[in-house]
Amino acid sequence: MSEIIKTSLKDLSDEELSELLERCGVAAFRADQLRHWLYQKWAADFSEMKNLPAALLGKLQAGYRVFTLQAEETLTAEDGCVKWLSRLSDGNTVETVLIRAPERATVCISTQVGCQVRCVFCASGSKGLIRNLTTAEIIDQVLLPCRYLEAKINNIVVMGMGEPLHNLDMLSRALDNLNAPDKFALGARHITISTSGIVPGIRKLADLHRPWNLAISLHATSDQQRAQIIPPDYRYPLEEIISACQYHRQQTNRMPTLEYALLKSFNDSPEDAARLAALAARLHAKINLIPCNPGPSRYQAPALAQCRAFLDRLIRAGAQATLRTRKGDAIKAACGQLRSRQRTDN
Ligand code: SF4
Repeated sequence: MSEIIKTSLKDLSDEELSELLERCGVAAFRADQLRHWLYQKWAADFSEMKNLPAALLGKLQAGYRVFTLQAEETLTAEDGCVKWLSRLSDGNTVETVLIRAPERATVCISTQVGCQVRCVFCASGSKGLIRNLTTAEIIDQVLLPCRYLEAKINNIVVMGMGEPLHNLDMLSRALDNLNAPDKFALGARHITISTSGIVPGIRKLADLHRPWNLAISLHATSDQQRAQIIPPDYRYPLEEIISACQYHRQQTNRMPTLEYALLKSFNDSPEDAARLAALAARLHAKINLIPCNPGPSRYQAPALAQCRAFLDRLIRAGAQATLRTRKGDAIKAACGQLRSRQRTDN
């Protein structure tokens, strides 16, 4: 007989949690204590919740879980990056990366197991979508590095496995909980959602009126070029993406970022730089250049000198641009790589 998967407390709304505690026969203030353990002490087990009555913990334990991730592999790199491969209750695995800089800790979280967009250069999408992550599974990826560091992280980038806007309902509930002052209390401006350019999702996100940052993984500056790296099912015309970003800007007043993975001999020419700078000017967007991570495709990163030359062209054209140094190569930090390696090993 298969094991019954218990509901995570973090998948309950505030009302549902209050009702649950009422059914357990305890005073309403216990909900605040429970939230404190979940979101501010980053508890992974009921046994850590020292100020809650044993009878209440026993009742909760019978039907509910505190933490949804079982860290199966933890890899650390010399540059401070940490990568976890965590087992979920149904046996699937998910990747989470901690990126450390002086005075800043950023966690890169996943929103899906696999991805149906299937960009050709990406390990996460190579086998398609398996399932969406739940709200609790998304939140717990943020709490995992807090437990590891014994300190609260400063930034969240939703840039790991999966297309975040294909799981916006679960993601927005998770981010609302992470923003809430009585829960994780991280400022909305410290959160960035990165999409491959899902137009209906960008518009839906805009209509939520949350001041989360939006990043577009553009990677190509013409529709013909994008067609070579993104299969047709979830590829939208550039003009529609631009219009959706402008709508998002109107609704949230947040300046978008264009993420651009530099792929050798594909999108690194002077003409690409000129088109990218022009697109950024139309959107009042910053540009973040990322040398392509090694993955399942034929694409490679250009040499560092060429990446810098591309950056210089953008800056000379008036763009606000940065070149991100590739962190975590030694631990396969690019999304989907650890998980796909494990599946190959198995
Ligand atoms: S790059 Fe992002 S959207 Fe594309 S397949 Fe990978 S996870 Fe999905």
